[in-house]
Amino acid sequence: MYPAIRGATELKRSLMKSRSEQIKDALRQQLLSDGLLGMCFVPIPAEALASLVSSRPAPAAAATSKPTASGDEQERLRVLDESQVRGCTKCGLSGTRTQTVFGQGHPNARLVFVGEAPGYEEDKQGFAFVGRAGQLLTKMIQAMGLSRDGVFICNVLKCRPPGNRDPSADEILACSPYLKEQLRIIRPEVLVALGAPAAKTLLSTAQSIGKLRGRFHDYEIGSPLEPDSTVPLMPTYHPAYLLRNPGEKKKTWEDLQKVMGKLGLSLPGN
Ligand code: URA
Ligand code: SF4
Repeated sequence: MYPAIRGATELKRSLMKSRSEQIKDALRQQLLSDGLLGMCFVPIPAEALASLVSSRPAPAAAATSKPTASGDEQERLRVLDESQVRGCTKCGLSGTRTQTVFGQGHPNARLVFVGEAPGYEEDKQGFAFVGRAGQLLTKMIQAMGLSRDGVFICNVLKCRPPGNRDPSADEILACSPYLKEQLRIIRPEVLVALGAPAAKTLLSTAQSIGKLRGRFHDYEIGSPLEPDSTVPLMPTYHPAYLLRNPGEKKKTWEDLQKVMGKLGLSLPGN
């Protein structure tokens, strides 16, 4: 690699790191203030989960992210964010947001999580899933033996609906092209749709999340005429729903284990 190119790559890496460090700090802060540190995502003893996670070898970059083909995914995501999303006024949420929340993570992630819309903390901090639901999502990702830095996390809507009300059909219609473009840039191997709005938007269906979850569906990432035009998508429950209905965590964990299987990641106990 030419020194100039290597220099640019290292610069990108260091920029990425400082951004992810920023997110980690925000999460640490939230964890401490919420007193959630002892909370366990899967309904198994905390020690068992801890050993499960720590006995797994730390995911090497190659295991959790695709090799960078052209290295420009990060740049394309940055341009989409800075030149289109940040100044967007395509729907009324532009008038009530503090800031847009593009999403964050690895630009070459093999796995992308898609939620509904930013909440209070996300609107305030500018990052996806950094509030209470985000803490639980972090635990779900860690239980899979992965880290937030190795995956990509975003939402259908890039602006917070006031009072966290449900997104309207018009808002989803206006905003979902940004999500679709993000997914075309990242081209993950597997997608997880967290909750009904994400699953219904990505699969263009009216079916309930209870009916959709638990099995892979085809997400059309490109034109149906292209080879590899679909990506397997696993719908599962939204972490905010799991906070209200902890009895459903077991089903979600089963869904995530299927995702691990699809990615060739080792399952607990194997
Ligand atoms: N809920 C979501 O769907 N997304 C977030 O970013 C936070 C909470
Ligand atoms: Fe634009 Fe989406 Fe924000 Fe609406 S929610 S203003 S479409 S970025």
